[in-house]
Amino acid sequence: MNIAELDRSACTGCFACMAACKFDAITSRVSPDGFFYPEVNAERCRACGRCGEVCPINGVPLLALPKSGFYGTFQGEGIAYSSSGGVFPAIVAAMGPDSCFAGVCWTEQMTALQRVETDPSQLGRYQGSKYVQADMRNVYAQIQEQLCHGKKVFYFGLPCQIAGVRSFFESKADQLVLIELLCHGVPSPVLFARYVRELETRHGSRMTDFSFRFRPFTKGTQFIAKASYADGTDAIEYDNDYTAGFLRDLYLRDSCYHCAYATDRRVGDLIVGDAWGVQEGASLLIPMTEKGNDLLTAISPLMPLTEIPSEELTMTNGALRTEQKDPSGKKEFFSNLDEEHVILSIRNALPKSNFKGKLYARMEKARFMHAHRNSL
Ligand SMILES: Cc1cc2nc3c(=O)[nH]c(=O)nc-3n(C[C@H](O)[C@H](O)[C@H](O)COP(=O)(O)OP(=O)(O)OC[C@H]3O[C@@H](n4cnc5c(N)ncnc54)[C@H](O)[C@@H]3O)c2cc1C
Ligand code: SF4
Ligand code: SF4
Ligand code: SF4
Repeated sequence: MNIAELDRSACTGCFACMAACKFDAITSRVSPDGFFYPEVNAERCRACGRCGEVCPINGVPLLALPKSGFYGTFQGEGIAYSSSGGVFPAIVAAMGPDSCFAGVCWTEQMTALQRVETDPSQLGRYQGSKYVQADMRNVYAQIQEQLCHGKKVFYFGLPCQIAGVRSFFESKADQLVLIELLCHGVPSPVLFARYVRELETRHGSRMTDFSFRFRPFTKGTQFIAKASYADGTDAIEYDNDYTAGFLRDLYLRDSCYHCAYATDRRVGDLIVGDAWGVQEGASLLIPMTEKGNDLLTAISPLMPLTEIPSEELTMTNGALRTEQKDPSGKKEFFSNLDEEHVILSIRNALPKSNFKGKLYARMEKARFMHAHRNSL
């Protein structure tokens, strides 16, 4: 079976199929909602079935959540650049010399790219959650290269990305450590690109960085956005429209509305997310395998960990529960989308009750500015 016969709405865009095809018969195509999908070139396809075999839609083994997890915050300096409690910098600091990691950074054009990094001093480029679907088409070849050199690869990814990587590298699994980020869903990369171009036009300068959860003073608990521009200026937004639309599921990938991984059964060695409601600015960590347990032991001197029962975790973190999202808002958003005015389209699509949220954000901003008037 090749991937053309699979349910397209379940395709997560992991591109394990493209990496697995030895005949270059799979290309990618952008859908009307701005996501990349694989496409089989019938003339090149030799019907070997390999793409269908690696595709996680056909099922990857999932593991049941254990009885407890942990929360903690990285004690190192780099924590200011992390979105949550800094599990990522803690792991990079603890990994041995024959190791590298795979993570997501911004390209010069401000697209999210997942790649292997062999230089740990580049860590800062990968810190911070980029709430947009990352391009992972080349990461398989990069991981393969490192594994062939005998390196250990610490792969940080969303559950469906982990599923693709795990399925593709089954035989080399010993050298791979899979760190699974809890996931609300991924927004459209083409929509985000339009949003960035619109901000650049308004600002009159090229964007060089975007932080969805600017952390200083707030420990990442509020979604304060910071855009940095080539002219050396920054713009901080306390009530960012794009983030509001993301959290209200207006432009997620179709597979995210019925996510196969939004369940209490997981796919990675170590689960990482926000410890919402448990500890401000801390990360939640749940080891799923022996590798996950070893990793916790390795980072615990850098990140003191406190145990927490799993029932409490599933109560506080929605991404650990089996939840289906309502796609009706997305349908309406894209049918009304004005591609030249993405920000206005998002504002129009947000419920009027969002006004309350904006009012609250303004009050928070005033409180925040007053509290930090000497350090800003
Ligand atoms: C799209 C998305 C949705 C998320 N939804 C939830 C959620 O609902 N609940 C929850 O508890 N946590 C969620 N997270 C995870 C959370 O935002 C933090 O990324 C996570 O807790 C790690 O925090 P940290 O401080 O250890 O990482 P940081 O030091 O901030 O580093 C960020 C890590 O995230 C990776 N990353 C950044 N952007 C992406 C991306 N687009 N795709 C894949 N990997 C990326 C980086 O490679 C790096 O490893 C989500 C993350 C993303 C990217
Ligand atoms: S069936 Fe084989 S040749 Fe055809 S697209 Fe899939 S992997 Fe490539
Ligand atoms: S889920 Fe991944 S492997 Fe399957 S068709 Fe989609 S991109 Fe290919
Ligand atoms: S919600 Fe599910 S399908 Fe969507 S990005 Fe997250 S893990 Fe993948």
